[in-house]
Amino acid sequence: MKGTVKFLNIRKGDTVVVLSGKDKGNKGKVIKTVPTAGKVLVEGINMVSKSLRPTQEMPQGKIAKREAPILASKVMLICPSCHQPTRVAHRLVEGDKSVRLCRVCNETIDKV
Ligand SMILES: [Zn+2]
Repeated sequence: MKGTVKFLNIRKGDTVVVLSGKDKGNKGKVIKTVPTAGKVLVEGINMVSKSLRPTQEMPQGKIAKREAPILASKVMLICPSCHQPTRVAHRLVEGDKSVRLCRVCNETIDKV
């Protein structure tokens, strides 16, 4: 049973828009998906400060900003064809492969 792994409609390289939270309305490119957590890591979205330990070069330590994963349900895919935020439909091709379709313009999102 692989019940814990959620199928994500978002994939690495997609552009998404944030639907809620402090980054609402912001767009970014998906750097990474975390299917087991149902989360995605998006460039420039959900930035968190992380304290780095002091080192000899930086005795005070340092605050680094980096992205934290955000729930995939909080972002929506931007269609590369019509540039509208869209829900995703699926179409089977060649029997077992599935491509994603934009529900706004019906264009294929994935290259086959
Ligand atoms: Zn579209």
